[in-house]
Amino acid sequence: MLEVWLGDITTLSVAAIVNAANSSLLGGGGVDGAIHRAAGPKLLEECRGIGGCPTGEARITRGYRLPARHVIHTVGPVWKDGNAGEPELLASCYRQCLRLARENGVRSIAFPAISCGVYGFPADQACRIAVREVREFMAVNPIPERVIFVCFSDRMKGQYEAVLREGEC
Ligand code: ADP
Repeated sequence: MLEVWLGDITTLSVAAIVNAANSSLLGGGGVDGAIHRAAGPKLLEECRGIGGCPTGEARITRGYRLPARHVIHTVGPVWKDGNAGEPELLASCYRQCLRLARENGVRSIAFPAISCGVYGFPADQACRIAVREVREFMAVNPIPERVIFVCFSDRMKGQYEAVLREGEC
């Protein structure tokens, strides 16, 4: 099941929420800051022990004070001009998060719009990549069963809904 939801990802009671982190995994602004504030200091402590994450990859931690049991941290690409491997790196983020979800028995997972904030990825292209990767993964894997695209603005919600309506992307 694929859903689009408008609101704060830190409030969701799902098995895992995804964090659009930076490569240090030591917190930042945007959704990253919100997740660390809501999870509390133990999340930062666990992230320190991981020692960073390259762009396009993902790491899993506990959720601590969050309603979500796990946080899957992924590092999206910074948008340059679209010819620096950004689309493939973003696709890799979604695939790695989904793989970690499957490996950890995460049945429900919520994604923010990775790279669509300060990293500047064009929202329409990012939504197409997100929906394509999730659909392809769910077509051949039983877990996760439920994927939620969390939007922080009506505009972003409209983008996801448009891509989902297209059926093909
Ligand atoms: P990035 O550095 O990957 O661009 P940002 O955190 O700047 O990450 O933004 C990623 C997306 O997350 C943006 O669409 C932003 O509006 C959204 N966002 C920010 N805070 C939250 C939140 N609390 N819940 C859900 N989405 C959020």
